[in-house]
Amino acid sequence: MFWRWDFPTGSNSALDEPRIADSRRHGAGGLRGAAGNLAAFLLNTVIPGECNWCKGAIRHARRIPYCDECLALPQPLHAEHYCSRCRNPFQNDATLDARGVCLRCRSGLPGFDYVYSFGFFDGVLRSMVHDLKYSRVSPLGGYLGELMARAIPLDLAVDAIVPVPIHWTRWINRGYNQAELLARPLARRLQIPILSPLRRKRTTKSQVSLTVSERRKNLAGAFSIRDRSLVADKRVLLVDDVLTTGATIGYCSRLLRDAGARSVTVVTLARVDRRPSPARVVLTASQASGGTS
Ligand SMILES: [Zn+2]
Ligand SMILES: [Zn+2]
Repeated sequence: MFWRWDFPTGSNSALDEPRIADSRRHGAGGLRGAAGNLAAFLLNTVIPGECNWCKGAIRHARRIPYCDECLALPQPLHAEHYCSRCRNPFQNDATLDARGVCLRCRSGLPGFDYVYSFGFFDGVLRSMVHDLKYSRVSPLGGYLGELMARAIPLDLAVDAIVPVPIHWTRWINRGYNQAELLARPLARRLQIPILSPLRRKRTTKSQVSLTVSERRKNLAGAFSIRDRSLVADKRVLLVDDVLTTGATIGYCSRLLRDAGARSVTVVTLARVDRRPSPARVVLTASQASGGTS
């Protein structure tokens, strides 16, 4: 008997973690139901697990170290006021113009056309991203990628997906580029290729505590285009795990545009909520009353 990982299909499939299923369930007369559950139970008994977030017991055999309840926790981001292009949340709409576009986007600085993100970089989502990036829990890539795919409009027209690259030293240490794992469900859904026109020439410091000019200096020369022909005249969907200041995706977007990309739309799994804390308190209260959308 051997095993395969099976994503259940259905409207909430992104919230269902891939579970162990008997490989013959799709064949004629394959093992199903009780036998499959028993097998999963036995395997989980052999490898007991603890949820990385709530520390409760994981009842199903799985490769993702989170329980069913915690897997259902990540929520789409919600904000009362946000820019219609970069989706940056604001405390009020004072800086947005009649089209709902923020000052930074009006100045043309970002380099990208639109940005979409699934949720805020907080709570269990933050823990999952951390496990994906630093604990080598690669199966989280598919699960989180399914969540991220929900963030983009159904009619988004793009020709190719470009994950933000990591430096080769990080790749050797991690064994994969987390942005590429996140991009795979999107590539399947949109039926477009994942391309690698960008190269990361060196590692960079976290942008969070840096000033605008320091960020520019930090990123200068960090990326380059390795193959212009891959993006020339294409509508590119740039993928990254977390949007913090937007400096990295802005830098990559400008490189892609300089290489001839017709448009650059960005999607990230999560984004850091950089509003002052009172706005987050309001958000939490809204979420608690079921006000998310
Ligand atoms: Zn849990
Ligand atoms: Zn904006």
